[in-house]
Amino acid sequence: MIIIMDAEATPFQIDNVIAEAESNGWQTHLSQGSGDTVIGLQGNGQPLDLFKVGQMPGVRETMAITQQFKLVSRTFSPKNTTIKVRDVVVGSDKLVVMAGPCSVESREQLLETAHAVKQAGATMLRGGAYKPRSSPYSFQGLGEAGLKLLAEAREMTGLPIVTEVMSPTKVALVAVYADVLQIGARNMQNYDLLNAVGQAQKPVLLKRGMSATLEDLLMAAEYILQHGNTQVMLCERGVRTFDTKYTRNTFDVNAIPLLKDLSHLPVIADPSHGIGIRRHVPPIAMSSVAAGADGLIIETHPNPDKAISDGPQSLTLPQFAELMSQIRRMASAVGRSC
Ligand code: PEP
Ligand code: MN
Repeated sequence: MIIIMDAEATPFQIDNVIAEAESNGWQTHLSQGSGDTVIGLQGNGQPLDLFKVGQMPGVRETMAITQQFKLVSRTFSPKNTTIKVRDVVVGSDKLVVMAGPCSVESREQLLETAHAVKQAGATMLRGGAYKPRSSPYSFQGLGEAGLKLLAEAREMTGLPIVTEVMSPTKVALVAVYADVLQIGARNMQNYDLLNAVGQAQKPVLLKRGMSATLEDLLMAAEYILQHGNTQVMLCERGVRTFDTKYTRNTFDVNAIPLLKDLSHLPVIADPSHGIGIRRHVPPIAMSSVAAGADGLIIETHPNPDKAISDGPQSLTLPQFAELMSQIRRMASAVGRSC
């Protein structure tokens, strides 16, 4: 439930309402953006006497949140959440672009990519050190050695690092190196992992599961926020549908404006996994920006045909630079920058 305060409510009146809720066993969450002060109630407190709360000085109205997701919902926190990742702000008018290889393969491959994407204007570096592969016989990633290479690339370029963590037992280790912890599509409903990244209090890029509804995605995010970690980016990366012949996944552009409506969290689009075909990544990236995405994550490789994973959807370094100039034009057409 939420309690909406009058625009003129004093700090004393707000504190009184918070005290009333907390004395009934609720945790409170205060949101003070865009005019309204909203007090959100979380947890399993005693039911409040709504008549009494409604009569308290400064209270405008009380409202039950009927959606299953609470902390991630726009009702709960009307203002857009922004997330600071080193010097980068996610969720502002300026789009963020995360670029880099699917897998960290070698020092040369990673550093060449990092310098090139930085030069082209990327704002973060992506790269998997722990890879969730469909086959146990495929390359599983370089592990901690890969994380060390990512840290070295950050040292040289200043780009913050986005990298996947696959298991709750690895969260502490990956968090030493990563600036953003990526939860992959295959792990979107791994609740132990969601709890662990919630406790880590680091920014999280939460990818939509392959057959997840938007509500499933938002409920997964709710797990993370429930630990007091509000630094969650929602990532549309395509879902499985009936067309498996011409496309790897079906990129759900609908998800972008819908998630922006339903939630205050920033939305990132992953056209690389969304369509899975290199030459079609740019139009899907552009449509994502047009639809209101706060950023993009783009697989990029110095020699995609030799990539160990996801080569067919990875852009070459010059293609990435070209995409950046297209994105800048699209961003300015929708009143944003890049
Ligand atoms: C990836 O980002 O390389 C990846 C494995 O993505 P997803 O979890 O969306 O398949
Ligand atoms: Mn990949």
